[in-house]
Amino acid sequence: MSMRELVVLGTASQAPTRTRNHNGYVLRWDDEVILFDPGEGSQRQLLHTGVTASDLTRICVTHFHGDHCLGLPGTIQRLSLDRVPHPVAVHFPAGGADYFARLRHASSFHETAELAVVPIEADGQRVALRCGTLEARQLRHPVETYGYRLVEPDGCRMLPEKLAAYGIAGPAVGELHRVGHLDLDGRRVTRDEVSTPRPGQRFAFVMDTGLCDGVYALAEHADLLVIESTFLESEAALAAEVGHLTAGQAARVAAESGVRRLVLTHFSQRYADPARFADEARRHFDGDLVIAEDLTTVQVPPRRVLSAG
Ligand SMILES: [Zn+2]
Repeated sequence: MSMRELVVLGTASQAPTRTRNHNGYVLRWDDEVILFDPGEGSQRQLLHTGVTASDLTRICVTHFHGDHCLGLPGTIQRLSLDRVPHPVAVHFPAGGADYFARLRHASSFHETAELAVVPIEADGQRVALRCGTLEARQLRHPVETYGYRLVEPDGCRMLPEKLAAYGIAGPAVGELHRVGHLDLDGRRVTRDEVSTPRPGQRFAFVMDTGLCDGVYALAEHADLLVIESTFLESEAALAAEVGHLTAGQAARVAAESGVRRLVLTHFSQRYADPARFADEARRHFDGDLVIAEDLTTVQVPPRRVLSAG
């Protein structure tokens, strides 16, 4: 069975605290295990969660501020230390290529792992994965920043009882699924007659940004949205000035975008009580709400069921 879940490595912006590591997130999504924004200490946080370097298939960096990338040297060297046998794809804003080059070779090590480096050159750049499409959208922050979303195409699920009623079995099922129809004894059976729609799922990852079109483009109909809420509304002016979101803004984006499960994270060290983020977000968003904590797991919600008709 496929597994789709978010593993939270760290939730602090800028400076870690006693209870919050620098940022870091792993998305398990079928055959992809994607590490997003490994901040300082990510290698050790991985150890606590049971995700190994060998599990990783891809690394996505939104931008080159330290809380989103200082974990790259350790993580990249660990790929080689563990002799990870498969290539690991890496995406980051192309304008930060010099930072990436330095982080990748921050110290001497015996490099055996293969990195498939594909920088993000432009807003809307897409990478085709087996499980869907990874898309980058530009965000608004003092340095070049891209958020990411993973979009699974809509599909359909064949219904065994309907197939059986038509006497369709074996390779004919695959043909019907692929072609869309099957001619049986002079009668045409269509895929729609023997299947039910299977809506694709979406994951979105929105880090450091002021409110902008890219935020909405990423969040649109996300089953799981991970979004920064560095500040509370009481610091809204400061948030706008430095290119960050408040919990209230993030929650309104989620509500307006039809998000199902909202994960707030990337908290400023100035707030001691995480409940304040929940209280503020709740005023705008009535779906599933998670105030992220280090070393916890958040499931992608079960697939939406389309009502008939
Ligand atoms: Zn940050």
